[in-house]
Amino acid sequence: MLKRLLSFVIAGLLMVSLSANAGAQVRKSTADLVLKNGTVYTMDQGWPKAQAVAIIGNQIAVVGTDADVEPYIGPETRVIDLNGQTVVPGLKESHGHLIGIGRAKMIVNLVGISGYDELIERVKAAAEKAAPGEWIRGRGWHEEKWTDRSSLTVRGFMTHHKLSEAIPDHPVYLSRADGHAALVNAKAMDMMNVGKATQPPAGGEIIKGGDGHPTGIFVDRAQNLIEVPPMTDSQLRQALELGIQECLTNGITMFDDAGVGHRTIRMYKAYAEQGKLDMRIYAMAAGLYTMRAIGKPILDQGGFLTVRTVKLVADGALGSRGAALLEPYEDDPGNSGFFTTPPESVYTAAQYALKHGWQVAVHAIGDRANRMMLDMYEKAMNEFPHVKDHRFRNEHTQILDEADIPRFAKLGIIASMQGIHATSDLPWAPDRLGERRTEEGGYVWQKLLKEGVKIINGTDAPVEHVNPIASFYASVTRKSPDGNPKGGMYPDQRMSREEALRSYTLDAAYGSFHEDKLGSIETGKLADITVLSKDIMTVPEDEILSTEVTFTIVDGKVRYEKSKAMIP
Ligand SMILES: [Zn+2]
Repeated sequence: MLKRLLSFVIAGLLMVSLSANAGAQVRKSTADLVLKNGTVYTMDQGWPKAQAVAIIGNQIAVVGTDADVEPYIGPETRVIDLNGQTVVPGLKESHGHLIGIGRAKMIVNLVGISGYDELIERVKAAAEKAAPGEWIRGRGWHEEKWTDRSSLTVRGFMTHHKLSEAIPDHPVYLSRADGHAALVNAKAMDMMNVGKATQPPAGGEIIKGGDGHPTGIFVDRAQNLIEVPPMTDSQLRQALELGIQECLTNGITMFDDAGVGHRTIRMYKAYAEQGKLDMRIYAMAAGLYTMRAIGKPILDQGGFLTVRTVKLVADGALGSRGAALLEPYEDDPGNSGFFTTPPESVYTAAQYALKHGWQVAVHAIGDRANRMMLDMYEKAMNEFPHVKDHRFRNEHTQILDEADIPRFAKLGIIASMQGIHATSDLPWAPDRLGERRTEEGGYVWQKLLKEGVKIINGTDAPVEHVNPIASFYASVTRKSPDGNPKGGMYPDQRMSREEALRSYTLDAAYGSFHEDKLGSIETGKLADITVLSKDIMTVPEDEILSTEVTFTIVDGKVRYEKSKAMIP
């Protein structure tokens, strides 16, 4: 308590002394935008809290009290009276799929359904409106969350038969929420000549029934056996615009797009060049081929687009038992998951990246995949000891062997984890992993933080909703949105509120080499700011989830304003 009081007093003193020369770096003296009468969490170490912010152009000019910003208010200044609302640095989604978020709004939405019958109903409704023979796409089913699980008859999944009967004339392709499995109907399998004799590719699985025929569930790389027609250019543009709109509505000012192809990157570039991006994008090139095709990293194009990361996917997901484990699955003893990328490719990518100034981000969920990634990173780093600031990343970091936790710190690996995944997965993870493995190595935020590892946060949207407040709540409580279990799941691994905010702001900026320009509210930094209806740093736990985003400001411009938003 004394420590807290002292830091409050010190913060107050600093506020006074800093405000004396605030704004000195910015030449123009009239603000374009002023936020006042709020609670500002600056994330600036010496000066954690303030009341007001003045913005000139795309930069933060003054951070201080209402009186400090007063001299900067001119006739042209827009002044927003926050009425006590909370201001945080612009929130950054550190791992999502932007086109997927937009695309999800254009295809059949299967999130939140109660079971297989409802899935079929929704697909049928779409098929009735579609042109003859047109593909029906859908996404978001998650059988672990269904209340009616009577249809889950083969390896915990449903089979295609009921769907094929209801929709015989359209090929149907429905992605699981995590994108690591798909359900397709008979029409689609027939069109692709997939049947009893079809063998899965490496890194994939075709689930087959007792009669040896495919059940319609295709896992990881086996999904490629069903070739769905690609989006048209206009569909792709629509998906991007819908995706950005959804992020801004949720207070996201910058987005790490975890693996996109060359075609999408070309579109992002064109948007950035024309100043048409409203949110900053940090796009990761999908695979070695895309990285090599781009060649030189793209750095802050138009201030809004950076491409300097290659994304690889080392294993599958836990739900579909594709995550590569050191010991077999608890509920599938013959199976330890699989690598979806061979170790040599991770090594080659790391070498290329260290040589040419790229960052590597490897999706690794299981403990065996994480260890393989660390081994390959280490091997490559030993060949390039002069590259100190590589900031190699791991995406997800869900299950670790205890021996590997200190290696993250030693090698300087950033753990890109999704708070919300922990509370979605922990209720059923012990089925897959057993109690001991889940407790020792599952979503071990505090174990990583104590070693000094930087954790960056996100949602993997559209796997989960992009809402950062829900992920923040999961991060600080380890509880489901309904508040259960009362004490949280393995609660000793919870983040403090400050750690969670840091993982969405300053450390998130570090994850993309932007901490000098973004991630905190400081004079001279770029004006990316999120305004919240409630003080998520102090309200009781159960009020966090009802917090709303009221303003999203990117590069000094208000890009979303709740009071002006159209109710959909
Ligand atoms: Zn992802």
